[in-house]
Amino acid sequence: MKICFNQATAMKNSTLALDLEWCEKTGYDFIEIRLDKLREYLQGHTVADLAAFFAASHLKPYSFNALEFISFRDEAGYKEITDGLKFCCETGAAIGCSKTVVVPTFDVGPYSKAEIKAETVRVLHELSDIAAPYGMRLAFEFVGYPNCSVNTLEQAYGIVAAADRDNVGIVLDCFHFHAMNSRWEALEAIDPAKLFIFHLDDSEDLPVGALRDDKRLWPGEGAVDLARIFGILKAKGYAEMTSIELFRPAYWDMPVPECIQVAYDKTKETIAKYV
Ligand code: ZN
Repeated sequence: MKICFNQATAMKNSTLALDLEWCEKTGYDFIEIRLDKLREYLQGHTVADLAAFFAASHLKPYSFNALEFISFRDEAGYKEITDGLKFCCETGAAIGCSKTVVVPTFDVGPYSKAEIKAETVRVLHELSDIAAPYGMRLAFEFVGYPNCSVNTLEQAYGIVAAADRDNVGIVLDCFHFHAMNSRWEALEAIDPAKLFIFHLDDSEDLPVGALRDDKRLWPGEGAVDLARIFGILKAKGYAEMTSIELFRPAYWDMPVPECIQVAYDKTKETIAKYV
């Protein structure tokens, strides 16, 4: 199981340059690059600088995070999504990054699940067509908030299955899976080939619908049944990667190298325990 760092974990006080340096020193295999951090980095560096870093490093890019709110957009909003995807495709081709996380829209109004599915599949098809010539794959991430239009694994997987494209899969995020009580049967039913990204995290013990990202905890310190999630993935033969992704303000306040090291150690301990 490869170990990946998601830049959300040290987000507030770090930069892409700093995360790259310390993830390489710490021994990570992969990094998920936040698009806001990438754009900030490109104000003082070039894409060629980034490509040169990865060419000379063990650390490799795993994905871009994230194109947010892809569905139910007006013309101007949707153009931001397609422009963002083209940027990911071109940058990804230059640095060897072949996945982009795509996130459904929040607060869309009282649409039925069938209507949400139809709209989201329609958009995923269009984005899939743009991404395919570049070899870019789209990892669809449901969010376990009550007001997200896609907020359980079963709903997200139904959409990805209906989209039925080789370059469209899901993100499984343990926090989001837990937060809206996604069904275990849904996790047991997924095709591991469709699991493009696995986000590792834990959570404070709040009621269904009350959790927000700032309540994430280091894996093993919270209420998420990581043993059961890892057990199901193991039984399916999933052994590709685990990406630590936290958004906890107290962790953001740690010195960046320490945050990156603790994240690595906690991820490694979790994998050693369950895989
Ligand atoms: Zn996630």
